Amino acid sequence: MQTESQLPAAKGGLSRPCPACGRTTAHVFRFRINGCDILQCEDCGLGRTETSGFDPAAYYTEDYFSGRRLDGYSDYLGAEPVLRREFARSVDFIRRYRDGGKLLELGCAYGFFLMEAARYFDVAGIELSAPAADHGRRAGLNVLQGVADAANLRRIGQVDVIVLFDVVEHLPQPRETLALCCQHLNPGGIIVITTGDFGSTVARSAGARWRLMTPPQHLWFFTQESMRRLSAGLGLAMEHVDHPWKIVPASLMVFQLRRMLGLRGKGVTAASRIGVPVNLFDAMRIVLRKAS
Ligand SMILES: [Zn+2]
Repeated sequence: MQTESQLPAAKGGLSRPCPACGRTTAHVFRFRINGCDILQCEDCGLGRTETSGFDPAAYYTEDYFSGRRLDGYSDYLGAEPVLRREFARSVDFIRRYRDGGKLLELGCAYGFFLMEAARYFDVAGIELSAPAADHGRRAGLNVLQGVADAANLRRIGQVDVIVLFDVVEHLPQPRETLALCCQHLNPGGIIVITTGDFGSTVARSAGARWRLMTPPQHLWFFTQESMRRLSAGLGLAMEHVDHPWKIVPASLMVFQLRRMLGLRGKGVTAASRIGVPVNLFDAMRIVLRKAS
């Protein structure tokens, strides 16, 4: 627990090991939100959440996916048709870089992306939430329940594609996890990552009110430069980066708007089946490739 008297000291002369730069760098205090300090690496722009006692296993429960948590997903299961259409587009995108082989998704939630990817790839997933992992297994998917540690990756074996959709910002040790992924990637294989862009105009102007500024759920806030340094340090080539349009369930948009405006209310299930194209250019999609 941080006390008020510790705060001034936290605002100047900070250095932290930066997982993107791969060394200790100077950090600047940006703001405090949800009881967490948000610091930023002065070299690469990577934002970090400083917190203590955050337990992911207790956090990613069924409540997280069903709209009972303000920072989670609104009615994820009800939005399946919209999410599946969006994931089918993601599969088309991935196939431009790798057309087949074995694909692993970290944080595969209910398995909707894997169900689409299974048309072209031999798929597997790792998911921390037990109810979500069970849902994928009942649909016939190969899903391990747990975290992406050495033991679970060994059980999956070598793969050609590893996908992390809005997951890397949740990882306690992103560099270590991506290094493990790299080890389990076949030569020429790719890692596809989506995450917020902390260097984007929207993120910089919104500051603590940015829609993705949700610590302690989000532990890291990447910039293009931090992603470039992180991948270079792991021997991966950054082959592509863009800010893609996304079709999202209308319910999720209403949900995020309500939260931004400080309104509470019941889930908006009826709007789950309607897809709305959005792009705030504050989220990036990255393709990293291992040398063949
Ligand atoms: Zn850095």
